[in-house]
Amino acid sequence: MKILVQKFGGTSVANLECMQRVREKVTDSLKRADKIVVVLSARAGDTNNLLALAEQWSKNPDAAECDALVSTGEQVSVSLFTTLLKDNGIKARSLLAYQIPVITDDSFGRARIRSIDSDALRAFFEQYDVLVVAGFQGCTEDKRITTLGRGGSDTSAVALAAALESVECEIYTDVTGVYTTDPNICSTARKMDRIAYSEMLELASMGAKVLHIRSVEFAQKYKVAVRVRSTFNDDPGTLVTQEDFSMEALLVSGIAYDRDQARVTLHAVPDVPGVAAAVFGPLSEKDVLVDMIVQNTSLDDLTDITFTVSRKDLKHTLEIMAKISHSIGAAEVVHDVNVAKVSAIGVGMRNHSGVAARAFAALTQEGINILMISTSEIKITILIKEKYVELAVRILHDTFGLDWDID
Ligand code: ADP
Ligand code: ASP
Ligand code: MG
Repeated sequence: MKILVQKFGGTSVANLECMQRVREKVTDSLKRADKIVVVLSARAGDTNNLLALAEQWSKNPDAAECDALVSTGEQVSVSLFTTLLKDNGIKARSLLAYQIPVITDDSFGRARIRSIDSDALRAFFEQYDVLVVAGFQGCTEDKRITTLGRGGSDTSAVALAAALESVECEIYTDVTGVYTTDPNICSTARKMDRIAYSEMLELASMGAKVLHIRSVEFAQKYKVAVRVRSTFNDDPGTLVTQEDFSMEALLVSGIAYDRDQARVTLHAVPDVPGVAAAVFGPLSEKDVLVDMIVQNTSLDDLTDITFTVSRKDLKHTLEIMAKISHSIGAAEVVHDVNVAKVSAIGVGMRNHSGVAARAFAALTQEGINILMISTSEIKITILIKEKYVELAVRILHDTFGLDWDID
């Protein structure tokens, strides 16, 4: 039995007309597969509206109740879409995560999938040709509803494909595939026919929201080939797959950016052992993810420690810093939310030097000041003022020869 998993994002199911287009795609796909699992996101804007509602009700909404609330966006889209399929005589039913179940841990708001009952899913196929599954949601062993983090429907889809041993998982979205950078801010971005899991992981973790990072981790681990394609045309899109030799020929294969950054600096901290642990220990205890970290060389036995966190964690971070700054002897704590990070990614960097220098020179020429730098084997990341982010993406895209060749 050939099972195909197809996921459609928020803009693909935004309204009746969009859903009718998706119904055509799914109906057509029944010619090349015996059974289809359709994974849907909430309609565009619905998740944001639900989150705003939670914040209107409470300064600090309860995490579990927040998940119970925001997961309803997907319940709306799967039931509406299944109605459309049934109107056309297709044997279909909707499934919420708890009805399968998709079991997760209890990290509300960013839960991780632990198991999926694939036998139960297969049993549903005895009666139905299309199962329409709510993405983004899961449930704990003790039946609490969870969500997988923003953009998490991609992860639902790939995890379902892995559980059903489906060879390919199609992710339908509002762009034609994975590009060398976000095509919505760089008109010269090029669509890639293939991209290695490792590069896609870096792109996703550096902010390219076209795929949720956990979905790429699942795909790599369970060898699911992921095809990113558009709901609005028939292009074959981009295949996310195992690394191959030709990819290493490219020095830099993509540029990503992330506006969800806030910078925090502890000024004039005594340069003694234990300070970093005193700063980052309490943050990790409270589940605050710290991204970039820089500690300056000390002057007069005093140093500055700067790090970045997600903007949603800034308030919490500043509260924690206010508690510890006195005991570690910091002169002051300052922060800045008008920052963003830009990254150049490429497996080809493993064997080449000078990539960072080229990036810095290009940005300097345009007068863009670099606030922080971090590098790994296959990426360079810089923190800059947010107002320069689109310009920096375009400059780096051009510098590393990724621009679309117009002639
Ligand atoms: P969906 O709602 O379908 O899940 P998302 O908005 O989550 O769609 O992801 C698609 C968006 O990702 C595109 O509209 C595009 O702006 C953005 N994006 C960022 N980087 C890239 C990239 N390298 N390639 C393609 N799209 C990208
Ligand atoms: N609806 C959720 C979100 O907006 C999940 C998703 O779209 O993948 O983040
Ligand atoms: Mg998405």
